[in-house]
Amino acid sequence: MLSSLKQYLTLITFFLSTLGCLSQHTNFSLIPKRDTVNVYREMLNDNSDDLMENHPAEDIYNNIWRSDHVNPYKIPIDSLPDSVRIDCSNFFVPVHGLITSVFGPRRYRFHYGVDLRLKVGDSVRSAFSGKVRIIDYEARGYGNYIVIRHNNGLETVYGHLSAVLVKLNQNVKAGQLIALGGNTGHSTGPHLHFETRYIGNAINPAQIIDFTTGHVRERSYLITKKQSFYYQHEVKASLLVTKYYKVRKHDTLSQIAARNGTNVKALCRLNSIKPKTHLKPGVRLRVR
Ligand SMILES: [Zn+2]
Repeated sequence: MLSSLKQYLTLITFFLSTLGCLSQHTNFSLIPKRDTVNVYREMLNDNSDDLMENHPAEDIYNNIWRSDHVNPYKIPIDSLPDSVRIDCSNFFVPVHGLITSVFGPRRYRFHYGVDLRLKVGDSVRSAFSGKVRIIDYEARGYGNYIVIRHNNGLETVYGHLSAVLVKLNQNVKAGQLIALGGNTGHSTGPHLHFETRYIGNAINPAQIIDFTTGHVRERSYLITKKQSFYYQHEVKASLLVTKYYKVRKHDTLSQIAARNGTNVKALCRLNSIKPKTHLKPGVRLRVR
């Protein structure tokens, strides 16, 4: 009995130490290594190289390939390299539609992409060449969505789709038909929600792409903390002043107000609702 308990404890210790190793390794590999960044810069400065053949994305993302989160990396913007040049020469506009909602702060949450007008069933195409990292459905958010990691280092997100025409881990080319536009998830009309991200951090797609012409603004886009992540102070400021509450079954406005140190009138004003509005469980109410 005693020896089997001992064996059991040894096994547990071994298992825990393996876990420790793994998490240490993961933390380590999450931060882009200095030399990787330099190699990447050198490569991008070398005009004789065919950039699309070199696939810098493999170095930047250090083999982290997960299909459960749009941003599994959680790399703070402060730890990104000061500047990185992204090759945007091989580009195709995802849909030929004008922006109906811009990147920036919204009433309930920050809008990390742009909304592009389309009709349900319109073609949605991959912006650059790359590989499909996520195909998923989010009822209260993106709806049916795809995330593609591109060879140039960017990742793009395509949301509210009516149909997905690619498979997970499939390689795609710039301009390849990947989905049909739709109105799924948290959406008030057919549109494509489109994001551009670098190691998980959103960049305003309109900085890279001119959606009126359907072309990239420059053949290469220079990511800098100041220009590309200008909105960070807005996000931080909104986090300081705003607070949300997720409605639970049988909650009433007066209960929510009391619990969050406010009143029904203020809640109605903040959320553009009436005191008698039916509260759906799961809905986020702004309480501050
Ligand atoms: Zn959107």
